[in-house]
Amino acid sequence: MADIAFIGLGQMGSPMATNLIKKGHRLTVYDINAQAVATLGELGVAAAASPAEAAKGAEFVITMLPNGDLVQDVLFGERGVTQTLRRDALVIDMSTIHPLHSDRLCQRMSEAGFSYMDAPVGRTSDHAIAGTLLILAGGTAEQVARATPILMCMGSELVNCEGPGMGIRVKLINNYMSIALNALSAEAAVMCEALGLPLEVAVKVMSNTPAGKGHFTTSWPNKVLKGDLTPSFMIDLAHKDLGIALDVANQLKVPTPLGAAAREVYSLARAAGRGRQDWTAILAQVRQLAGRAAD
Ligand code: NAD
Repeated sequence: MADIAFIGLGQMGSPMATNLIKKGHRLTVYDINAQAVATLGELGVAAAASPAEAAKGAEFVITMLPNGDLVQDVLFGERGVTQTLRRDALVIDMSTIHPLHSDRLCQRMSEAGFSYMDAPVGRTSDHAIAGTLLILAGGTAEQVARATPILMCMGSELVNCEGPGMGIRVKLINNYMSIALNALSAEAAVMCEALGLPLEVAVKVMSNTPAGKGHFTTSWPNKVLKGDLTPSFMIDLAHKDLGIALDVANQLKVPTPLGAAAREVYSLARAAGRGRQDWTAILAQVRQLAGRAAD
């Protein structure tokens, strides 16, 4: 059983700390919210008056805070973790923060002679309560191996993201895609309503197409990711079909800001001479727009 300092006892941190206690670990906790500390105190954990006090003697320090500035304060502030941290301790930041800030924190910790890794989580506070979070572990192989038994007290699935900073990177990209797709899905659902198409029918069909499953695992693997841009479904045809959908939406007075933006990406691909390439060549087109090698 390990001595763990847990800092940040909000919606996520409080149930995560509780699950560590239930698995028999010895916790010292800190939060600026005294009530959150008192609630956990009822489970018999030690309450600290500062991050420095919480970290004293700990083998692991876990932070679960709203943003990178707060993580930085907790680590390097006046009464911060690094004031008392053991040289052989491992600091695990599980917050969702800016990846470049995470990189700077990792570097600063390393320069100060401390070990720091990122392990943000996927899913929600209900999963935090159930101990079924998805843990995205970024760190050296040694750090991930050392942290895994601790992290698995809070989650049901752990992905080794293969390197320092990679957990927070994949978390960012996952959020980017799922948050943007949420809005695109809402456009599609409102189009269903306006067309009188039952949403259940659309859900049934799309649960087996790239629309519902995403492109990473459906249309991309055998085409653009293999460098094969011969058309299974041409950019020109994708552009036409998107145009029909936007025209229908326009007639039904359904706003489609994301679909309209996507059409312009297909227009750029067409203008760049990719009309007869596979629709997955949109990846090559966006790489080109970003000034990167297209293939
Ligand atoms: P929250 O606001 O409920 O909790 C944050 C806690 O940090 C609060 O208890 C607050 O008092 C404490 N805190 C703030 N400043 C502090 C400081 N200087 N020292 C000590 N404690 C401090 O937020 P949350 O929902 O628990 O989220 C925590 C992190 O997890 C965030 O980075 C969030 O993006 C991420 N996350 C949240 C969810 C979710 O579903 N809520 C899911 C995945 C990831």
